[in-house]
Amino acid sequence: MSDREPANRRQYRPRKDKYAKTRRGSIRLYTIMCAACRQPVLLYQKDGPGALLRLYLDRILAPPALADMHERCASKSDVPNLVCAHCGNVIAVPMVYAKEKRLAFRLIKGRWFKQRSTGLFPPA
Ligand SMILES: [Zn+2]
Repeated sequence: MSDREPANRRQYRPRKDKYAKTRRGSIRLYTIMCAACRQPVLLYQKDGPGALLRLYLDRILAPPALADMHERCASKSDVPNLVCAHCGNVIAVPMVYAKEKRLAFRLIKGRWFKQRSTGLFPPA
């Protein structure tokens, strides 16, 4: 981990909106980690139960460059692959979740793992 990261460490709060509410209020935060270099990639808010298969752009809370992607990207072609900033490992590819017409990343099996988070990113 580089020396500058502790200065960027921040506490993030979940987004409570229509998507969180339709999933019955169950919210968990996860740090998505790179399986290749074991560095944190992003902070994610998972609404509701079930396995983590995709990352909705509007649920990415940190880092800022990824967290504001849902405001910058209007369609799937605007969304780049999700790549580990430390080692270049491709963790996920863009997709649209048809049921909600929601932009997301489809996670690639074996490229990532998750850790429960309290909202601190990067994790201590
Ligand atoms: Zn990596």
